[in-house]
Amino acid sequence: MDKPSDKNVAKMQKYAEKFAEKSGSYLHPDHSVTETVVEGLARHIEEVGVPLCPCNFYPDKPAEAKLRRWRCACDEMQMYKYCHCLLFVSKEGVPITEHLPEDHEGRQIYGLVKDPHPDKGRAMRHKIGTAEEAAHD
Ligand code: SF4
Repeated sequence: MDKPSDKNVAKMQKYAEKFAEKSGSYLHPDHSVTETVVEGLARHIEEVGVPLCPCNFYPDKPAEAKLRRWRCACDEMQMYKYCHCLLFVSKEGVPITEHLPEDHEGRQIYGLVKDPHPDKGRAMRHKIGTAEEAAHD
């Protein structure tokens, strides 16, 4: 796989730092975790023009890139403050699961992980009901 440009890596690193602060989450204490995810996001900027989440498989990447749901920060992060890539986590480096539905895989994997700053982030929390209804349609 080609290495993304330093410019795009720096852009996504800066974005990650800013968004962690804004959303009331933390970057992973192990910097190599952040580095890997940031590189994946930067690579997607070069491949499809937007920072698609690097931790999913997309049967049709260009089509997915036209949607909002898996552009970082994805809908799950904006609704539940949950990042399955471990880019935005608790201080201890675990994904925040407090706001997830109980049957979500994140809850099953990590148990209940409290939101360290419930006053921040989750700009799309008002969409939770709508997204769940759509998922069950
Ligand atoms: S899970 Fe969401 S917030 Fe986390 S890196 Fe992927 S797109 Fe970004």
